[in-house]
Amino acid sequence: MVRSCELESRSDVRHGRLMHKQLLGDRLQKFGRDDCFLCGTDLSAAPGIRTEEHVFPKWLLQELNLWHHSITQLNGQLAYYRRLKVPCCQRCNGEHLSRVEARIKAAYLEGPSAFRELDRRDLFIWLGKIYYGIIYRESHEPQLVREQAGERLVPADHLKTLSFHHFLLQSVADRLDWFPRFPGPASFHFFECLDDEDPLRRFDYMDDLGTPMLAIRIGRIGIVGVLQDWGRSENVQQPHLVAAREMKLHPTQFREVYGRLKYMTEIAWRDNVHPTVGGPECVTVLYDPAQEFRGEVDPGEQARVLASLWGVSPQAITKDGMGMSTICDMSGSPLTAPDHGLIFFSLDGSTGLWPANQVELTEELLKSPCIGTDSPSPD
Ligand SMILES: [Zn+2]
Repeated sequence: MVRSCELESRSDVRHGRLMHKQLLGDRLQKFGRDDCFLCGTDLSAAPGIRTEEHVFPKWLLQELNLWHHSITQLNGQLAYYRRLKVPCCQRCNGEHLSRVEARIKAAYLEGPSAFRELDRRDLFIWLGKIYYGIIYRESHEPQLVREQAGERLVPADHLKTLSFHHFLLQSVADRLDWFPRFPGPASFHFFECLDDEDPLRRFDYMDDLGTPMLAIRIGRIGIVGVLQDWGRSENVQQPHLVAAREMKLHPTQFREVYGRLKYMTEIAWRDNVHPTVGGPECVTVLYDPAQEFRGEVDPGEQARVLASLWGVSPQAITKDGMGMSTICDMSGSPLTAPDHGLIFFSLDGSTGLWPANQVELTEELLKSPCIGTDSPSPD
């Protein structure tokens, strides 16, 4: 699991909390342990309305056998996946979110093709809830266990910069819509991944606190969601992404596609202001679906992003200012991995790339025919 900590506000900050009040009249964005993270209901106001929503849904943790496993948080401390929960009212949890969850689960069980066919609104809500939920929880967790009342893992003020994202999530209760319906608020990038029997190899999660985007790999399904680029990045024909769409990705390769999309999103990001119509029963957010995706790639900067995701130094994966790829070789041919057992190496051969960045490189391992070392690739 990789979290990026660059705290800078994006398009959300200008909207502020007022839009919830002015346009919807209710469903305010609130931040406390006694507030529903999704609709703002005061959970201490009446008995029986308080529930806890799992950030990563229970069915998923059970399917992937992750119930007893833990993740590393931003402060390096471990936390059980099953304990990643946020305060939620009975209605949001038991009605609104559970309907979406049931459709996502059914598609997951059917496989990658069914997942691609999911309703885009459902996918936005599902990914958007995980993204917002994990930050909400972190805004309540102490940075240092011994200082329970001290600094939080994520400053509570950061949630305020996500107010427009929270506003868009009100679509879960049919209180918000967007026009045109397609493509909607997010870009979705789907990838088929290699699966494995080891639960810890079957799951990966990455997100970015500065740019609202995330990636999740669950078994054979890999998806990168850019939550507020209004479909702009979906048609990008970057050669590595095009090749990756035709492959079954190894975990190292899935991190590469996320890294490439993360870097591209950052250089091409554009703050948007959206007119809205209607309310308070239902607000419609209007947007321009034809925005171009533009940005100049700096290979060195891109390599820095990839290095952090692979857990190695940028120098280990760059040569003459060019970065490397685990997806294509210099000629553009795809580098196919047979299974999770393959280790991708840095350009200088000094280290394996995540998840093999901690593996001790023995003589025997270095001679293995299974080792793939890539050449620098043009961008
Ligand atoms: Zn609620």
